[in-house]
Amino acid sequence: MKTLIVSNRLPVKIIEENNEYHFIPSEGGLATGLADVYKSGNSIWIGWPGMEIPEERQQEVIDKLQEINLYPVFLTQEEINLYYEGFSNETLWPIFHYFVTYAHYHQNYWESYQSVNQKFADVVLKIAQKGDKIWVQDYQLMLLPNILHQSLPKSTIGFFQHIPFPSYEIFRLIPWREELLNGLIGADLIGFHTHDDVRHFISTATRLLPVTSSSNVILNKERQIVIEPFPMGIDFEKFSELAKSASVKKEVDDFNINRRNNLRTILSIDRLDYSKGIVERLRAFDLLLTTNPEYLGKVTLYMVVVPSRDLVPQYAELREKIDQLVGNINAKYRHVDWNPINYFYRSFPIEVLSAFYSTADVCLVTPMRDGMNLVSKEYVATRNNNDGVLILSEMAGASKELADAIIVNPNNIGDIKDAIVQAFTMPINEQNIRMIAMRDIVQKFNVKHWVNNFMTKLNEVKEFQNSLL
Ligand code: UDP
Repeated sequence: MKTLIVSNRLPVKIIEENNEYHFIPSEGGLATGLADVYKSGNSIWIGWPGMEIPEERQQEVIDKLQEINLYPVFLTQEEINLYYEGFSNETLWPIFHYFVTYAHYHQNYWESYQSVNQKFADVVLKIAQKGDKIWVQDYQLMLLPNILHQSLPKSTIGFFQHIPFPSYEIFRLIPWREELLNGLIGADLIGFHTHDDVRHFISTATRLLPVTSSSNVILNKERQIVIEPFPMGIDFEKFSELAKSASVKKEVDDFNINRRNNLRTILSIDRLDYSKGIVERLRAFDLLLTTNPEYLGKVTLYMVVVPSRDLVPQYAELREKIDQLVGNINAKYRHVDWNPINYFYRSFPIEVLSAFYSTADVCLVTPMRDGMNLVSKEYVATRNNNDGVLILSEMAGASKELADAIIVNPNNIGDIKDAIVQAFTMPINEQNIRMIAMRDIVQKFNVKHWVNNFMTKLNEVKEFQNSLL
């Protein structure tokens, strides 16, 4: 019996050199956590390799990927436009993050979403055998569990959603709401990051589908489907060890040479996304410099925004807005030898990220909505000296675990400004107490723990279902 992981994207980067493809395994959190699963036995990870591959070269890609236990689903550029950038990112993403006015409901997006989910199913069905375990990842593949369940009723199917599940009043706006829910309940176990997501899913499913629920179980024609929270963790040891490495120490030294005496630093790292609250964060920083002039020349905000989806108009507009605000704030307050904001619109290698985490007195994470938010956990894991302060939005899944952060409402600019002042004036022993408590949690509930918990529960659910037959 094997385990199949299925996600939109395979954990690799493709590089084409001298007319040959090379695959570099990615080191993202999910890939690290799942490594033990898909690399063991004859298990496999199925997904899109990240670019359009001409038909005559597809066999070459299949062969090369199979060497590292991966199997490709080939998508055309049109499918990527309609299923991924369209339905996934312009319909589901805004709705699930409560940005209802940003959602587009296009029939051709929906049709492509259906056919691409079927395409993924066709590949899975080529590889899967009776009794295999299949773990489907995320909102791009919500229809897949039920397609698989219909063809392989004896297999064990898990689904995990990495983004929030909204309340019924929001979810019901989607024209294809029943179809999406029916897709999901083909799974035996459905996981979300938080209890709130679980609650929202159960109440939505029981209102829209002819199913009943009792506690965290949905009953669909005698079949029991378990819905549970599994807050995803990070590779704690990796971030903690990285901060002690020579390469990161060198980055930190370089950073400190250029740092003025007594300069306090605030760190902000996100992908470009309207769900991340970047504009509100800048406004709060602006307010701080206006109301607390004692910080002029004494504090710098390091703001990293990683380019993402910037061909989509809403993202392009957001980028412009950030450029403008950063420009205005810097123009308004800067001195000849001090800049309030150091803004970077690019991504960094992990050693530089680690140096940012290591040197930041405050990490400011204020999304409007976030399924989990890993940046907050990576900051905590990096702080081997137990100092530093995390300011965290109550709308991030991580706030349910990291209760020792300063928790803020991201819409309340004054609240964020006050939290920054609180962080700057927090005595070191209070910083230590809070950071130790958070580090314990991030260390214990790491990504391996998350994978084991999910897999153990998936086995239990199937055994229980079988015992009823
Ligand atoms: N990250 C990265 N390069 C960068 C900045 C960030 O790889 O230059 C990573 C970061 O380490 C984190 C992830 O991007 O693991 C962001 O995850 P998060 O859950 O915070 O947000 P998401 O982008 O998944 O919504």
